Amino acid sequence: MGSITLEAVTKSFGGVKVIPGVDLEINDGEFVVFVGPSGCGKSTLLRLIAGLEDVTSGRILIDGQDATGMPPARRKLSMVFQSYALYPHMSVYKNIAFPLKMAGMEPAKIKEKVEGAASILNLTDYLDRRPGQLSGGQRQRVAIGRAIVREPSAFLFDEPLSNLDAALRVNMRLEISELQKTLGTTSIYVTHDQIEAMTMADKIVVLNAGRIEQVGSPLDLYHKPANLFVAGFIGSPK
Ligand code: ADP
Ligand code: MG
Repeated sequence: MGSITLEAVTKSFGGVKVIPGVDLEINDGEFVVFVGPSGCGKSTLLRLIAGLEDVTSGRILIDGQDATGMPPARRKLSMVFQSYALYPHMSVYKNIAFPLKMAGMEPAKIKEKVEGAASILNLTDYLDRRPGQLSGGQRQRVAIGRAIVREPSAFLFDEPLSNLDAALRVNMRLEISELQKTLGTTSIYVTHDQIEAMTMADKIVVLNAGRIEQVGSPLDLYHKPANLFVAGFIGSPK
C-alpha cells in the first residue's frame, strides 16, 4: 500500500498563494520526482503530504483514506532528511533505532529491524560508530535506515543529496534507486537537479510557481515537453 492522491490542494502563507492548486495521483510503488527551480514549492508540497504543514484547501488521500487533517505520525510516511539531521552523540545503531524506540517497540524487535536495515544498507560493520566517524555516503545511508525501519507506505526525500560532493551524489543516486526497487516502496523525491530527476524517476512532476507544468515519464518529458518551460528545464529543444 502506498498510493497518494492530491485533490485541488492549495497552500497560502500569510495571504500569499504559494501552491495555487495541485491535483496529482501517485501509484503504489512508484518513484516520483518533484522537480523545478528553487522556490517553486517542492518542499512545501512534500511537507503538505507529510502533514508537517496544513493545506489551505483541498484534500490529501493516502491509501484511499482522507488524511487531510491527520497528524504526521499517523500518515505512515517516512521523511528522509539530509545526513546532517543525525544525532552526533548516538551510535549508528541508536540513530536507526530512534524512531522505533520512540514508538515504544520492544528491544528485541528493534534489534531485528535495525540489523535488517543495516544489512540492506551495508552498515552492519558500522553500527557501533558515531556519525562523525563515517563517510558522507555512509551517513546518508544511516539517515535512510532511520526511515526504512518504520516500514512506511512511502518515503519522502527532500533533496537528500544536496550537501554531498558530485561523485558521491552519483553513487547515492544509484543506491537510492536500487533500494527503492528492492523494497518496492512508493517514493517521492524532491530535487532541483534535472539529471537526478531524469535518471531516478518513474514519473516526473515538473513544478513552476506552485503549479504542475507536466507529469510524465522521463522519456515523455524529453520527447514531448508540454511547453517551453518543461523543454527548457529538461533540456531538450521543442
Ligand atoms: P522549493 O522547495 O521548491 O525551493 P519551497 O516550497 O521551500 O520551495 O518554497 C516555496 C515558496 O513558499 C517560496 O516563495 C518560499 O519563500 C515560501 N515559503 C515556504 N515556506 C514558507 C513559510 N513557512 N512561510 C512563508 N513562506 C514560505
Ligand atoms: Mg526545497
